Amino acid sequence: MNVHDSEKVVGTLMARGYTQVESPADARLVLYNTCSIRDKAEQKVFNRLQQFKRDAGRGKIFGVLGCVAQQEGEKIFDRAPHVSLVCGSASYTRLGEMLVQIEAGERRVTGLSLDTDETFDTPFTRRDNPHRAYITIIEGCDKSCAYCVVPFTRGPERSRTSESVVAEARRLAEQGYSEIQLLGQNVNSYRDPSPAGWNFAALLARVAEVPGIRRVRYTTSHPRDFGQDIVEAMDANPVLCDHVHLPVQSGSSRMLAAMDRLYTRDDYMRRIEWLKTAKRRYSITTDIIVGFPGETEEDFEQTLGLLDEVEYDSLFSFKYSPRPNTAALAMDDKIPDQEKQRRLVIVQEKQRAIQMRRNAEWIGRTVEALVEGRNQAMEQWIGRTSDNRTLNFTHPDGNGDSLIGRYVPIRVTRSGPNSLVGESATVV
Ligand code: SAM
Ligand code: SF4
Repeated sequence: MNVHDSEKVVGTLMARGYTQVESPADARLVLYNTCSIRDKAEQKVFNRLQQFKRDAGRGKIFGVLGCVAQQEGEKIFDRAPHVSLVCGSASYTRLGEMLVQIEAGERRVTGLSLDTDETFDTPFTRRDNPHRAYITIIEGCDKSCAYCVVPFTRGPERSRTSESVVAEARRLAEQGYSEIQLLGQNVNSYRDPSPAGWNFAALLARVAEVPGIRRVRYTTSHPRDFGQDIVEAMDANPVLCDHVHLPVQSGSSRMLAAMDRLYTRDDYMRRIEWLKTAKRRYSITTDIIVGFPGETEEDFEQTLGLLDEVEYDSLFSFKYSPRPNTAALAMDDKIPDQEKQRRLVIVQEKQRAIQMRRNAEWIGRTVEALVEGRNQAMEQWIGRTSDNRTLNFTHPDGNGDSLIGRYVPIRVTRSGPNSLVGESATVV
């Protein structure tokens, strides 16, 4: 989501006559887009701003965008006095005006209001990938997970109209993009604000019908709002990729309640059951937090048990990181960092073994890969399968960039914990 926010900001600026340069050293305006989901990400921002400081005074203008901007607000000016602009994502629609103020010589400009029903809907997006394009369908979040800073940094939920989403998908297809990724903190909460009133499953189905679009992905789904109609929409159209990211966070219903996740382990497993009994084989991935306040050894064991039961194809695992304003800050029974680290390593080792097993099941099968790049040193192409696996392969045609963006059938010959290896299935 942050990557796409940056693409939209760059597009907006280019439409105003700015040009993009290769490095901050060459820029007169440096905008730093930030993440505050965990403390580590936030610390990086201040280290980077410190580095930029050396360039201040050489006529450069500095701005901080994104969640750290929203969270820290004007305090950023105290910590990094060379910064002139502090703007959270809910105010990006006003970015143009703010830059005019800075160009007119204002030293400190802020965009920090969260009180908005607008989305950052811009016709000017400078996309970095020539084949896959992101489309934001919903911004902000109305949930209140006890550990999460997002509702405080990205504002309330705002859905875009279905008309503007479908029109953007059509425009992208005409420009040659073949894969679309629909984005939102919680895409399942999507509610078309126009009279059509589509829900997420209806929107998915319509985007998948846009001529020229061969793959549609989406992220992220909140399990509470993940309905069976989404699985039905996916089953009905293979353009909707064979992958669902369904963050569980914990396998213990006690922890899920403490986290205010609004579902139990059983509710979650019911959704997994829909996916496992669906018409196609879907790859399922998740997010796990270890060491949330009060997580006992038994709660943790339940998370490990869930990993065995679901057999995820991949997961992101995090040590709980206390965040400002969140409910979990006031909770007792904090888990020491060393213990969080121990649990994290156990989760990752278990998952590695599961992935080795799951990936090995692909050996001998032929799958379609979208070619994303070339590893010249290995003399291999880098592709991605519909179910979001990385597939490195050899191919008799093409050199340089000539296969990139094409869909090719590949026979899988080997597997590792994180990727597959194969060769062109057209070779006889
Ligand atoms: N909206 C998505 C959802 O509800 O699953 C997740 C959005 S969040 C940007 C991505 C992931 O970061 C979460 O699923 C969670 O695992 C992790 N995360 C969020 N806050 C965290 C915190 N305070 N400490 C550790 N991990 C955190
Ligand atoms: Fe954060 Fe929960 Fe909203 Fe996801 S649903 S962004 S974890 S508050």
